[in-house]
Amino acid sequence: MTADARKLTIDVIIPLYNEEEVVAEFHLRLMEVVRRLREEYDVGIYYVDDGSVDHTADELAKLAASDDGVTILELSRNFGHQAALTAGLDHAEGDVVVMLDGDGQHPPELIVDMVAQYRNGYEVVLTQRVATDRSRFKRWTSAAFYRVLSVIGDTPVTAGSADFRLVTRPVLAALREMREYHRFLRGMVAWTGFRTVVLPYVERPRLGGQPKYSLRGMAQLAADATFSFSLVPLKIALVVGLGFLLLAAAEAVYVFSFWLTGRQHLLVRGWASLMFMLLIVGAALMIALALVGMYVGYIFQEVKRRPVYLLRDIHSKAAHQRSRAEDADP
Ligand code: UDP
Ligand code: MG
Repeated sequence: MTADARKLTIDVIIPLYNEEEVVAEFHLRLMEVVRRLREEYDVGIYYVDDGSVDHTADELAKLAASDDGVTILELSRNFGHQAALTAGLDHAEGDVVVMLDGDGQHPPELIVDMVAQYRNGYEVVLTQRVATDRSRFKRWTSAAFYRVLSVIGDTPVTAGSADFRLVTRPVLAALREMREYHRFLRGMVAWTGFRTVVLPYVERPRLGGQPKYSLRGMAQLAADATFSFSLVPLKIALVVGLGFLLLAAAEAVYVFSFWLTGRQHLLVRGWASLMFMLLIVGAALMIALALVGMYVGYIFQEVKRRPVYLLRDIHSKAAHQRSRAEDADP
C-alpha cells in the first residue's frame, strides 16, 4: 500500500451481442467520459461479448489492444443480456461498478453524475428513462409490464428503469451470491434494499444496428421477472378456481330449486349453459395447471444449478500486467 489513499476504482460493464457496427463509436464516446474520470479514479472497462457471431470480437480485440484498461470477457455462446451482465459482475473488481448497454442508448456522460451520487452516500444509483423515441409498441409494453409487476411483485421495481446503473461493493457481493438461473437484475438489485437514488436520463437512439431483444426475448424477461419475483399468479389460479367452485355451487342450488318446486320438466333446456360452464371451468383448470407448471419448470431449472454463463476466454493487456506486478511484489 502506498502512503496516499488508494484511488477509488470504477469498473464499467458493457454487454454486447452482434454490435459490430457500433462498438468502435460507442467506445470513443465512453472514453471521452472515462478520460475525465481517470483524472480522479482508476477506471476499468469490461466488454462482455455475449456470443456474437458477427465481427464484434474483432472490433473488441482492437480496443483491448489500444487501451490497457479494457478487459474482454468472451462467453462461449449467446447467454442473453442478463447473463452477460452477470459475467461482468463476477469479474469486475472496482469499488463501484457501472453497467450500461453498448448500443449508445445509455448516455455515458451520466456516469459522472452517478459517481457523484455515490459520493453522496448512495449504494445504488438507478436510472429512469424520461423521454424516448422508442416505438409506441415498446413504450406501451414496457409501461404495462411495470404496472403489472408493481401490482403482483413482492419487490418494488422502478418503472421505466433500465440495466443502466451503478452499484457499490456490498451490492456487488450480494448479487454475486444470488446464483439463480432466471435473472431479472432490476428486481434483484431492488431486492437487496441498499440505499438507492434514481437519476432521470433521456434515452438516445441506437448508434446503429438492430435491437437485440426479440419479442421472444422481451417476453422471456417479463416471465423471469414475474415468476421469480411473484407468487401472485399461483394465487390468481386459486382465486379463479374458488370463483368457479362458487359458481358451480350456485348452479347446483338453482337446479335443486326446480326439483323442490316440482318444475324439473323445464330443466332439459339447460344444455347451452351447461356446455358454457363446462368450457369455462375447463379453461380455468388449464390456466391454473399452466401456472403451476410454469413454477415447476422454473424450479426444475433452478435446482439444476447450471452456471448462468460459460466463459471461453478473458483478454486484457492490463490483466497480464497486473498479475505480473503481483508476482514481482512480495
Ligand atoms: N445484449 C446482449 N445479449 C443479448 C441481447 C442483447 O448482450 O442476448 C446487449 C446488446 O448488445 C445491448 C444491450 O444488451 O448492448 C441491450 O440490448 P438491446 O439494445 O437490444 O435492448 P433494448 O435497448 O432494445 O432494450
Ligand atoms: Mg438498446
